[in-house]
Amino acid sequence: MDKKKITNMEVKRKNRNDVFRYICRKGMVSNPDISYELKLSLPTATQITKELIERGLVEEKGEMESTGGRKAKALAVSGSVGKAAGVDITKNHISLVLTELSGRILKYERIFLPYSTGDDYYLEVCRKLECFLEDCGCGRESILGIGISFPGIIDLDQELIADSHVLGVSALPFSAVSRFFPYPCHFLNDANAGAYAEGIQSEEMGRFFYLSLSNTVGGAVYSNGKLEQGRNFRCGEAGHMTVVPDGKVCYCGKYGCLDAYCSVKCLTDGRVEDFFDRLKHGEQEAAGLWKQYSSYLAIAVNNIHMLLDCDVVLGGYVGSSMGDFIRDIQNKVSERNTFAEDGFFIRICRHKTEAAALGASLKVIELFMEQV
Ligand SMILES: [Zn+2]
Repeated sequence: MDKKKITNMEVKRKNRNDVFRYICRKGMVSNPDISYELKLSLPTATQITKELIERGLVEEKGEMESTGGRKAKALAVSGSVGKAAGVDITKNHISLVLTELSGRILKYERIFLPYSTGDDYYLEVCRKLECFLEDCGCGRESILGIGISFPGIIDLDQELIADSHVLGVSALPFSAVSRFFPYPCHFLNDANAGAYAEGIQSEEMGRFFYLSLSNTVGGAVYSNGKLEQGRNFRCGEAGHMTVVPDGKVCYCGKYGCLDAYCSVKCLTDGRVEDFFDRLKHGEQEAAGLWKQYSSYLAIAVNNIHMLLDCDVVLGGYVGSSMGDFIRDIQNKVSERNTFAEDGFFIRICRHKTEAAALGASLKVIELFMEQV
């Protein structure tokens, strides 16, 4: 008897959750729309939206355009439901994003602010965030929380940033960062955040590997709305796969890691967009560097694909900027592929420099959605 009761409650909760997500996604809907699209009876759909209205999550916004017969009430997410912020911390910049529940970006800004340990840095990040939110006309009370993306290993069990070589941080408790912000904080690794942004808004991408090619090389495995974490929260750390036995020294101290061959600095010390411009104009030095870079990248992508048999999304600064040069990677991977596949399972990320901040904010939204 108890079991039946729980099951019914679970079904109700799932239906309510589905309806709310549907309204968030569509913007403006009617009860008949919900009933038809989510395969719920009209009385059930109406009962659920009534409940969501009572909880202040949904509001009526006049009537829908008539498609014949009586006009249906137009329903939309209530304007008073909050928004989520995302902060991406990198070595030299912070990226800030404000996202509404539908996942739409309301504002994005990238600010030059070199990382430093100590209170001054976080006070400045917080000040920049408050200015950013103020510019959006967004009061503190409307922020559901902030997602913070870090280039490092994020230990969710021990609640600390276990290690970030690029920032020179180890065993930094979340609380040492979150205490500066007057909002609930959620922490994510940058590649995980990028993968999350890529996956959560896409209906067709059930599972893929996200390879982040930036100042360091990282990766993440996205699977049906979830990120694989691994036993030590290091799942997807592709930067330290060996691609050359006893090869170049990696910052981790080992030899021949992918990071030593495919981080941004293997292409340029300057802006990666400028590098691809030079490559486009046929500059010899750039062509030589790209030939080498793309060969090592192809080895890594082929290995990842052999292991996981899924799409591989190229993100980070290099993935975001390579444009049509992805064909070189696709061709080189295809040549290596044992099963004569073409390389079209490799694609470029949809979100560029905003990816990690966006993904971090979407994590906040997802946590809110789950408890509707
Ligand atoms: Zn390494």
